[in-house]
Amino acid sequence: MSRQISSLLAIAAVCVTLAPTPAFAQAPKKAPVDCEQVKCLALTFDDGPGKYAGTLLDTLKKHDAKATFFLEGQYVKSRPAFVKRMVAEGHTIGNHSYKHPDFTKSEPGTIRNEIKTTQAEIKKVVGFEPKLLRPPYGLADLQVSEIAGEFDMPVILWTAGSQDWNSKNVEAIKKQTMAVAQQDGIILMHDWVKQTVDAMPAIIKSLQKKGYHLVTVDDIIKRHNLQAGDVFPVPAGWSAQ
Ligand SMILES: [Zn+2]
Repeated sequence: MSRQISSLLAIAAVCVTLAPTPAFAQAPKKAPVDCEQVKCLALTFDDGPGKYAGTLLDTLKKHDAKATFFLEGQYVKSRPAFVKRMVAEGHTIGNHSYKHPDFTKSEPGTIRNEIKTTQAEIKKVVGFEPKLLRPPYGLADLQVSEIAGEFDMPVILWTAGSQDWNSKNVEAIKKQTMAVAQQDGIILMHDWVKQTVDAMPAIIKSLQKKGYHLVTVDDIIKRHNLQAGDVFPVPAGWSAQ
C-alpha cells in the first residue's frame, strides 16, 4: 500500500471514530454561536412542557431561535412528545423538579427524590439525563446546591424575569422582556402562559433586530466553567449564607 493511501485510510478511520453515535435524533448542529464574539441572550421556559409548547416550538423554529426548557417531571410524563421535539430541534432541557415544591422548605430526601424521578422520566423519553437544574421558584440555599452537586449539575437561575405569569398580557410581556434584555442575559418565561407564546413572534423579531442571538443556557455558561453545585448567576447575598 502506498504511503499516501495508507495515510488517507488513517484519516478516514479517525473521521469514523469521531462521528457521533446517533443515540437520539438530535438536530444537526450548525457552527456554534460564539457568545464572546456576538450578543447572546437565553430565553428560558419553566414548568413545562406546557400546553402551548407546540406553538412555541413552531415559532422558535421559524425564527431560527434556540431556547432552554426547565421541565417538571410530571409534565414530561404527560407530554413526552414535546420533550422529544425540544431535543430534536436543538433546544436544551433541564430539570425543574417533579411537582414543583419549594426546595428551601423541603427535606433533603424530598429534594433528591424530586430531582431523581424527573431525571429518570426525561431519560425514559429522550435517552439521556439533563445536566442543568433550576429549582422551583428559583429558590436555592446551600443544601439545594449541595444536592445539585450530588447529581453533578449546576443550579441555573436567571438574570431577569418577563413577569409573564403575573401580567398575562401580551404587550406587558413584550415590554418587560425588551426592558430586561441584556448581553448574556437569562430570561425567565413560562410556556403554560398563553400570552407568552402569543407574544413570542414579536419578541423574537425585536430581539433579533437589536442584534441578539437567541441561544441556549449552555452557550451562555460555556465560558464560566461551572462546577456541579455552583449557582449561576450568583444571587445577591448568596455569599452571606
Ligand atoms: Zn417553576
